[in-house]
Amino acid sequence: MIFKINARTKLMKCTICGKMAVIVRRYEGRALCRKHFFDSVDRTVRKTIRMEKMIPRGSHVAVGIYGDGDSALLLYQLCKLGKKRDDLKISAIVVDEGIRGYSKEVMVFAKKIAGLAGVALYPGSYKDVFGMTLGEFLRKSKGRGVDTYGVCQSLRCVAFCKKAGEIGADRVALPVNVDDVVQEIVSGYFCDGGDVDIAIEQFAQKKMPVVRMIKPLSKVLGKETGLYAKLKGLSVMPVECPYASGSVGLKIGGVLDELDERHPGVKFNILKGCERL
Ligand SMILES: [Zn+2]
Repeated sequence: MIFKINARTKLMKCTICGKMAVIVRRYEGRALCRKHFFDSVDRTVRKTIRMEKMIPRGSHVAVGIYGDGDSALLLYQLCKLGKKRDDLKISAIVVDEGIRGYSKEVMVFAKKIAGLAGVALYPGSYKDVFGMTLGEFLRKSKGRGVDTYGVCQSLRCVAFCKKAGEIGADRVALPVNVDDVVQEIVSGYFCDGGDVDIAIEQFAQKKMPVVRMIKPLSKVLGKETGLYAKLKGLSVMPVECPYASGSVGLKIGGVLDELDERHPGVKFNILKGCERL
């Protein structure tokens, strides 16, 4: 997604300091300049990490890189934290899903952003972990109401945990924002993981190392992670996953975007509603 600061926003002044605003947060009823927008997102990320006790002392965090997520921003945020905390070790991991014309691009992208961040990158693949590529997995579960995108997300989580265990990491950080979390919650009512879910579960029970998955960006909206990355000049992937366009989960994401545009705060409300359950 390309983020543009529209003309109306440019005319607005920051509610805190009066400088030119880069974002209007209708759900909060305030506008923020570049500096106060960065400060606010940084604070939210730090608070999420602290409140959910995501990164205790001495952790080795493997940052999962994938093309359609906020990987560069997550890596940026964690490296920033790593500069303040010398007890932390940060690495990057990436898995080749075996998608023609896409997975190789993700590998190149991962190399680039890990290099820029100055962290080691450890690549793996679905073939190594599961013995088959994403396409082979999907062919096995064809016609069962399975959502391609959702399946890939589940497989990726397992593959990331496996890779993290191999390199001695005890945390896998995933580039997941509010939109992704809400989309996953709502999609759960519409899609069935079918045999793939069962296969993953069985695999996970047998071979999974003890690695905790953490989502430091999970309280930041997708349009704000996108704007942050754009304003900081962080890299984004040039190619979209070919499975994304037919995904039920992403269509639901589109509906949620529309709802949130008309009724600001809807995504946060779904999130809060689920946390209360
Ligand atoms: Zn300001």
